[in-house]
Amino acid sequence: MDSRSDHHVVGRFAPSPTGALHTGSLVAAVGSYLMAKQAGGRWVLRLDDLDTSRQVPGMADDIMRTLESFGLLWDGEVACQSRHQEEYQHVFAALLQAGVVYPCGCSRKEIARSASAPHVEDDCIPYPGSCRWGMKADSVIRSWRVRVPEEEICFSDIRKGRICQRLPATSGDFVLRRSDGAFAYQLAVVVDDYLAGVNQVVRGEDLLGSTPRQIYLQRLLGYPQPDYCHLPLVVGPDGSKLSKRDHLISHQLGTVIGRESALLLAVLRFLGQDPPQKLAEYPCTAILEWGVAHWHLLQLPSRCGVVAI
Ligand code: GLU
Repeated sequence: MDSRSDHHVVGRFAPSPTGALHTGSLVAAVGSYLMAKQAGGRWVLRLDDLDTSRQVPGMADDIMRTLESFGLLWDGEVACQSRHQEEYQHVFAALLQAGVVYPCGCSRKEIARSASAPHVEDDCIPYPGSCRWGMKADSVIRSWRVRVPEEEICFSDIRKGRICQRLPATSGDFVLRRSDGAFAYQLAVVVDDYLAGVNQVVRGEDLLGSTPRQIYLQRLLGYPQPDYCHLPLVVGPDGSKLSKRDHLISHQLGTVIGRESALLLAVLRFLGQDPPQKLAEYPCTAILEWGVAHWHLLQLPSRCGVVAI
């Protein structure tokens, strides 16, 4: 059955198997699960294994076992980006055909040099459009970029409210494919969510800035726009950003065995919910059931915070 043919909510969790889950990813998993289930919907799992060079062997399996140990059971088959290359190729060819994609010969260094603020991080420098109307005669293709529009892209985030972004000022024409053939996350995520019929994207606030690019691609491709809810980020006790290695939660490493219920309760509290302490003595499935029955969207905190066990 085509999952897009009904109107049920389809939420998803899309971890990258580049390492074990950390507290922040557990928050995204629990938040997306509860929101989908509270709406009576499905919750699907996708492994974002697009970048093969960054993958850690065994991690996909570790992530799945960890989710299971928290009672976070996904619906249907697990999707993998690595198996969607043909679909990406198809969509990329359609965009190329439509004339919105162009080859670019600029290196990161050249882009950084052309930026007015030379010290901003590479990723944050909007591409100035040097190859928009053709590459320099002697340059080689390094990537393919999509032309972005002048007008603002706006959307309403369930937690953050109305968000507007002018892509020329934030990303500029962004990369859809590299010269080695690899497709960019922005393209892959849009195609994957569409293929799975995902209509509710709940994930960490660190991805809020990517959302207008994804919405722009959805519009170009004529895809429906999912609802978005960006959750607060987990920070360290001193308010600092958690590094990817902080608070790893791994089944394989045995870091959670026996502590799942306490951690799940802490995640619910982090999400502004008010579970009774006695739930700590119950299995995760009971805690999730409580979470689904008592989920209050309006209690989501407006700020980042710590997960305190
Ligand atoms: N795979 C991405 C990550 O682990 C998340 C992608 C998404 O939620 O859109 O950060």
